[in-house]
Amino acid sequence: MPHEISPYPMVPLEEALCRVVRAAPPLPAERVPRQAALGRVLAEPVLAPEDQPSFVASTVDGYAMRAADGVLPRRLRGEVAAGEAGEALGPGECLRIMTGAPVPPGADCVVMFEWAEQRDGFVIPERAPVAGENLRPVGSDLRAGEEAIPAGTRLGPVEIGVLAALGVREVTVHRRPKVALLITGDELVAADATPTGPAIRDSNGPALQAALSEWGAEVEFLGIARDRPEEQEALLRRGLASADVVVTSGGVSVGSYDLIKPLFAKLGQIHFGRIFFRPGKPLTFATAGRTLLFGLPGNPVSAYVCLVLFVRPALRRLAGEQEVLPTLVPAFAGEPLRPAADRPDYQRAIARWEQGRLVVRTTGPQGSSRLRSLVGANALVVLPPGETVLPAGAPVEVILLGPVAGDRTLGQC
Ligand code: AMP
Ligand code: MG
Repeated sequence: MPHEISPYPMVPLEEALCRVVRAAPPLPAERVPRQAALGRVLAEPVLAPEDQPSFVASTVDGYAMRAADGVLPRRLRGEVAAGEAGEALGPGECLRIMTGAPVPPGADCVVMFEWAEQRDGFVIPERAPVAGENLRPVGSDLRAGEEAIPAGTRLGPVEIGVLAALGVREVTVHRRPKVALLITGDELVAADATPTGPAIRDSNGPALQAALSEWGAEVEFLGIARDRPEEQEALLRRGLASADVVVTSGGVSVGSYDLIKPLFAKLGQIHFGRIFFRPGKPLTFATAGRTLLFGLPGNPVSAYVCLVLFVRPALRRLAGEQEVLPTLVPAFAGEPLRPAADRPDYQRAIARWEQGRLVVRTTGPQGSSRLRSLVGANALVVLPPGETVLPAGAPVEVILLGPVAGDRTLGQC
């Protein structure tokens, strides 16, 4: 066994994730105009202010008539289109009516054009219609006061449409999480600068910033800090002053210049400092007051995987969602998969539908500094530790990161 030099126990990933989620209560609510609420989570349910629909409408193109007239010919009185109000009908009368148009007083059903014959100013239904046929009653979608969208719903285009239909202009949603991002490392230059000698470009800054923005956070970039405690502390304090979440990259291992853990301990309370998993063992999580602090490892792959597995659920909780833990999806190995011997391994992979099964292959060598192992990955395949290679076809579990393509598509082009 190698000599342990970190004072932090290795926490199982599931336990660590629970600690993060428990420390991330939903942020306060604010009123936001409908269109700006896309992607935000409702803090209060939206109730229908009125019956929906507010009038009896036809669900088809056809003839509005009275069911009681049976199969007798009806005199055609005219036509009513959507947006018009038709004249009242008497016995033995009918109106041509278009989908969505109000059913005129006196009519109690609509017969589709296909099921009636129109001749010499009269309409003869092929069979006796039934009262209520092809009508959309008042309030059949929503009654006034009924819950249209429950609290905790992330508003997508469909919900925006429901709000519009109900005439709701503003909603109460949770505030967007503010994230301050600090990159650390003496070896780093800004991505657009030219590194010389042993310097390298900061790739985590742009990658993490992109991911955080994509997930709906407001991101403040604190900059690239040298590996000096005063410099990192000053920037961390700036982040703590304004953000709900501070994310740092680098400096959480046991190297001589790894300063983040002691700084987190100085500024707040550490909840874990190591996790029993790959890639990202030294991930560190702390809180300072209400602010969450994540110390991501500097290795680009570890940083991104930790961001997906830990920071994203925290952001979703802060934004007001309830069910935020990543879900495990059953799949099958599409090639032999080699687990890490010592810890559960979350390997970067491509999942595809093949003959009705979700099949997963890794993106190649899984070294945690190999940024390319993330390119094109739409899944993490979760491999329990062991010496035995899983053969192709073995059942595995994956966490999906993006859309899954496959061999059975809707059409082919
Ligand atoms: P650290 O976690 O600071 O020990 O860094 C681990 C490895 O990741 C080292 O090889 C670093 O050079 C590399 N690294 C750290 N930060 C970044 C970054 N922002 N962009 C790219 N590589 C990084
Ligand atoms: Mg470093």
